[in-house]
Amino acid sequence: MARVLPETSGSAAGETAGATALLTDRTADEYARLVHGVVDAVAARFRTTTAPSSGAERRELEALVDAVALDDDGIGSAAALREADELYAQHAVWFHHPAYAAHLNCPVVLPAVAAEAMLAAINTSVDTYDQSLVATLMERRLVAWTAERIGFADGDGIFTSGGTQSNLQALFLAREKALRGVDDRGRAMARLRVLTTAASHFSVARSAHLLGLSADAVVPVGVDADGRMDPAALARALAETTGAGGVVMAVVVTAGTTDRGIVDPIRPAAGLCDAYGVWLHVDAAYGGGLLVSPTRRGLLDGIERASSVTVDFHKTFFQPVSSSALIVREATDLLAAAWHADYLNPAEEARADDADPNQVDRSLQTTRRFDALKLWTTLRALGPDRVGRMFDDVCALARRVRERLDADPELRPVGTTDLSTVLFRYQPDGVDDATADRLVPLVRRVLFQSGRAMVARTVIDGVPCLKLTLLNPDATLADIEAVLDLVRATAHGLLAGDALATRADPPCRDVHPRLPRLTAEEDGR
Ligand SMILES: *Cc1c(COP(=O)(O)O)cnc(C)c1O
Repeated sequence: MARVLPETSGSAAGETAGATALLTDRTADEYARLVHGVVDAVAARFRTTTAPSSGAERRELEALVDAVALDDDGIGSAAALREADELYAQHAVWFHHPAYAAHLNCPVVLPAVAAEAMLAAINTSVDTYDQSLVATLMERRLVAWTAERIGFADGDGIFTSGGTQSNLQALFLAREKALRGVDDRGRAMARLRVLTTAASHFSVARSAHLLGLSADAVVPVGVDADGRMDPAALARALAETTGAGGVVMAVVVTAGTTDRGIVDPIRPAAGLCDAYGVWLHVDAAYGGGLLVSPTRRGLLDGIERASSVTVDFHKTFFQPVSSSALIVREATDLLAAAWHADYLNPAEEARADDADPNQVDRSLQTTRRFDALKLWTTLRALGPDRVGRMFDDVCALARRVRERLDADPELRPVGTTDLSTVLFRYQPDGVDDATADRLVPLVRRVLFQSGRAMVARTVIDGVPCLKLTLLNPDATLADIEAVLDLVRATAHGLLAGDALATRADPPCRDVHPRLPRLTAEEDGR
């Protein structure tokens, strides 16, 4: 890093404190040098990183973070960035590494990373048109593009910080629609219900809480053996809930559940929602990539009949965090959140025929990043089909990994997926259920601490299991088999307990020199 990061110049006598610290016409050359240096340093990390993380212990990281003297005099940009490289980049989690297979984090496409540098430096805020000009128009074009992909003839939408915010806003809009024309909002709110499966994202239940709904507002809808919403169960839940005096404010179906990657059947849910006059929200935070998939778009059959859709571009469009959108079918629905301030978006101007397109009228945020630029450059650089093929590739990889597990004597697959997750347990013949249960969190933790592979864990129908979320289209079957080898070796080591310390078992020792004993460890720390 020292090689590539230039020293910053000090400020000359008589200059303001900001004179050389700000990115301006006078510091453009220094900006270029500084950012080139950072880019070179990060590129060096990508070239040389050999594991998903450094494997440093939390105590060690806490000490490193606490040791930085934030109140000292400044050390200059180059030194500060060198320090950040050694602290942050050195100990980051690398989502591009093929042994990273834990959560819904993707490696990011090059044009989007480069666009991120552009939007960060220019620092546009897409709240009002007068702060953003063409950026607002570009975001609106992408919103229209996404709406078109969904099949909304006249949709609208807004970029958000993520699926959590998109879901919150969707449920807010659904609540406002349900309460339209109601005088006693408090009383009406107590009767509002949201129907969804137990596998829906936790942000759905939390949104209901944040929106002031009652504690029993989220009504679970039954699922089939794969965890997919059962339309007959939805029909029953709608009838029973309304029969009991509840007002169903929204049905939330998930296009790609976070754990299993299961896509709920959208079309039957849309039919029922139409019959009851209920808002249908499709949470496609994970499955949004299907919108550009050349082979799997059919999984989203019926999505054009939804009232609103969440799409996380920072998951299956391989975009840097953050990049998400909420798209609605009826443009007017989106304006329920509109609020006017004289200093920003005066109401009388908003009513004008030729009113500026102020995105703040549609967003829960005010100041907002121009994240849309990343998707824009991605679509232009790669074309949508190529992005869709990348998502197809990880779905195909998950299928092949699953086939391997079906034939594996030690690792047992759990459930199935429509997308790119793989659930399994270490449980060869002779290992009882209780032991297999306890191995799940321990294996995850040992691998996590080693830094060599990252897998997630969850509980499906009461059964703990390990989880791979495959979002790296460059990862090969051999890469994932190597992760599975580490899982087996770790389980062997844990089962061997004390004997491990003396056993010459290179794979195990490599995983972690301090393998905990299964019997002595509490689970799930
Ligand atoms: C990831 C996810 C979310 C939350 O999205 P964030 O971008 O993390 O806020 C919501 N719903 C589903 C189904 C998800 O997988």
